[in-house]
Amino acid sequence: MPHQGSYINGKWITGSGKVQRNVNPADLSEVVAEFPTAQIAEALAAIAAAEAAWPMWKAVPAPERGRILARAVAIARTRIDEIATLLTREEGKILAEAKGEVIKGINCLDFCGGQGYRLGGKVLPSEAVDTAAYTIRQPIGVAGIITPWNFPWSNPCWKIAPALVAGCSVVFKPASATPLTASCLIEILEEAGLPAGVLNMVVGSGAEIGDTIVNHPATKVLSFTGSNPVGSRLYENGAKKLAKVTCEMGGKNALIVMDDADLERAVQGVIGGGFGSSGQRCTATSRVLVHTDVKARFLELLVAATTALKLGNGLDPTTQMGPVVDQDQLNTDLSYIEIAKNEGLKLIAGGSLATSAGNGYFLEPTIFDGVNPSHRLFQEEVFGPVLAVSEFSTYEEAIELANGVAFGLSSSIYTKGLVTAQRFTQDTHSGMAHVNEPSIGGEAQLPFGGVGITGVGDREMGEDGVNFYTQIKTIFINYSLSGERSMFR
Ligand code: NAP
Repeated sequence: MPHQGSYINGKWITGSGKVQRNVNPADLSEVVAEFPTAQIAEALAAIAAAEAAWPMWKAVPAPERGRILARAVAIARTRIDEIATLLTREEGKILAEAKGEVIKGINCLDFCGGQGYRLGGKVLPSEAVDTAAYTIRQPIGVAGIITPWNFPWSNPCWKIAPALVAGCSVVFKPASATPLTASCLIEILEEAGLPAGVLNMVVGSGAEIGDTIVNHPATKVLSFTGSNPVGSRLYENGAKKLAKVTCEMGGKNALIVMDDADLERAVQGVIGGGFGSSGQRCTATSRVLVHTDVKARFLELLVAATTALKLGNGLDPTTQMGPVVDQDQLNTDLSYIEIAKNEGLKLIAGGSLATSAGNGYFLEPTIFDGVNPSHRLFQEEVFGPVLAVSEFSTYEEAIELANGVAFGLSSSIYTKGLVTAQRFTQDTHSGMAHVNEPSIGGEAQLPFGGVGITGVGDREMGEDGVNFYTQIKTIFINYSLSGERSMFR
């Protein structure tokens, strides 16, 4: 399928850069997209278009901005299967997961559409007599939005929809690996009636296009999701120009299995959390911490379930795990398997390429046992289907292990004990906590994001996600007939 290129000021344009060819990670003989990338000149044109459109867009009443999102929801609902299929071909996750992602993105559009009726400030009592005091929320300006390949539809939805309803215009750079899925959102918003220039997409190299968007003085608000090295540099550059910035980055999410856990359910949680989307979720379960008393039985069940997983092309409804996204990610995964072996860790499942699964980037779901905080597999994000298992004897030890990494995105515990579950939700150092379910997932109306080196800036999604794109103005109206003004404040 050809790609139309970038979308600037209401028009699809052919980029002036080199032609990029993306293949299906489950079938390397299938070219999914072939398109000319954009260069800095196109990024500058996109920023100029967003700057020019902003005064008009911010003047559109928020409920009307929300209604455009509502129309986008209706259009997107008619395209769920088509977008999900494209997503599977472009990124590799299995069709059921792709469909789930498409629906989640639509929910974000839906939620943000409704926020058009609720965008507002607070009315508060003033210290002064005959004085009205209240706040309003105003859009910040042009938003620069940069997204990763692992959620190529829903991540753009959960950033772009709040920016638009808040009244910001947008310059958006999708990941180079997955521009086709992202472009469906542009098509849908265009069809829903979004005026030209309000949303612009530039497809091209992160270093060139990304840097141009980040460093340009017009992009007053920046939202990034991706890796820590890129995110921390972006945060630094955003800070230099005093932009408002949010960065959501990596994770090393722990799942604790207590001695009173339902082991079958915990195994299913680890399989879904660790190997769903081939482990390529920021919230993926990547560390499993198991109580000594149940470890032997738990690992027996886990290894059996892991080795039974059917790998293959995600379009086949019987496939349970797809490929990893590309050769670079596969190399990273394989290098961590080597690192773990060299550190003396015990390989209890997988560890090799799954060549029989097809002509793609297939890796066996892999588990290492005997991992402790000194090991790189305990501390570093792999972003692939490679799990690290550690052992503990008390709840306190489990929490110390769970919190013993620099990341802090999500975490999970399996237990039947109400007290243990409740204590865990308080003690875990993470932006999200799950009980008796894996560490993955988020919902449009709930804040999403992490602590520690995972996230800086405001939370995404929910009301906070919309408020991020606004700034507060405090207003005082003195309606005293005498003109009296309290000196108190
Ligand atoms: P990445 O390499 O950091 O890329 C993310 C985006 O940044 C891509 O669009 C990339 O463009 C762009 N980029 C690259 N260099 C840039 C630069 N110098 N300036 C500005 N932008 C630049 O991350 P990824 O491999 O796509 O995604 C995987 C990472 O995302 C993992 O670490 C995962 O944990 C994280 N993630 C976090 C969350 C969360 O909410 N916490 C959610 C999903 C994923 P190109 O594609 O053109 O290189």
